[in-house]
Amino acid sequence: MPRPIQATIDTEALSHNLGTVADRLRRDASGAAPFIWAVIKARGYGHGIEAAMAGFGEADGLAMLDLEEAVRCRELGWNGPLLLLEGFFEPGDLDALVHYRIGAALHCAEQLDMLESSPLARQIDVFVKLNTGMHRLGFQPHEFRAARDRALVLQADGVLGQVGAMTHFARADDDAAVTQAQIDCFLRTIDGQAGPVSLCNSAATLTPGLAAGIAAGPQWVRPGICLYGSSPFADRPADVFGLRPAMTLSARLIGAHRVPAGESVGYGHTFRAPRDMRIGIVACGYADGYPRHAPTGTPVSVGGTRTRLVGRVSMDMLAVDLDPVPDAAVGTPVVLWGRDGPSVDEVAAACGTIGYELLTAVTPRVPRRVL
Ligand SMILES: *Cc1c(COP(=O)(O)O)cnc(C)c1O
Repeated sequence: MPRPIQATIDTEALSHNLGTVADRLRRDASGAAPFIWAVIKARGYGHGIEAAMAGFGEADGLAMLDLEEAVRCRELGWNGPLLLLEGFFEPGDLDALVHYRIGAALHCAEQLDMLESSPLARQIDVFVKLNTGMHRLGFQPHEFRAARDRALVLQADGVLGQVGAMTHFARADDDAAVTQAQIDCFLRTIDGQAGPVSLCNSAATLTPGLAAGIAAGPQWVRPGICLYGSSPFADRPADVFGLRPAMTLSARLIGAHRVPAGESVGYGHTFRAPRDMRIGIVACGYADGYPRHAPTGTPVSVGGTRTRLVGRVSMDMLAVDLDPVPDAAVGTPVVLWGRDGPSVDEVAAACGTIGYELLTAVTPRVPRRVL
């Protein structure tokens, strides 16, 4: 028997979420709705590339970071556009981009140097990335025109195909004024250039009217986290947007016993039983990707009843309070997050982190079951 833990991936929830996002964008749009890059970086936010491909068959394109993930998508039969959000890293990457028809973000002069010195058999589509204030990747506004001009020369020389423009928001989840300033900077800097544009992450994509208000060429939004049923907003759960959790991390109790009042539980004895109580031991620990810093009180569902984690998370196990679940015994199912349990965002909030981190942290030793 393998350890009783698994991550169940619901590909119907993935396609439902994509459809929900597409419907919102269509309702908002006065003209053509934006195209959607489904972001599947970090192995589909921890759900697996295969599952993400199965769930996002209706997306207009797939965006990721790893060349190997992009190649995998082609090998699995994806025929649509692919975009590498960090572009390529060395000249040796370019042959694969050409061969597998993979587009790239173009965010630094070094990438232009590589393109200018590498003869390519076929054209590559690019989005020139502008840094509008996040200060992560992208050309500064004063460098952008020169970078775009170099890209247009490469286009005229047949090295590049489509040349678009993109940027990334720093605070689309919590500050509309900062986001608007970034949009203004983007529109001012691209200055009516032809070609597609790409700006919106999940938070911007879910903000009513935001994508529809960006008047500049055909637009590609780039939602990631919301497609997996997790909210990009700290103050709004995913279900208010009609999104469903795509990953359920579940396990079973492998121990259940009494702890007398005053006795303490687990490493460091960080939880002391305030009264005689029952404790359950769950086959899930930080080596499965469950956060070690989850504090006592973090929500967990045991046998369909919501209860709480107690004490310190160990490598392979964690302890839960069984007082609200008197019938629980060895073998009782436990949901750490997902369907019929707390949302990944609730667990993340209890741990002082975000759903993104928990979903992508589930380790390879946890068997994935794809529905
Ligand atoms: C991760 C990422 C996204 C998607 O962000 P979410 O918040 O998950 O929607 C979009 N664009 C870029 C450049 C990214 O790195």
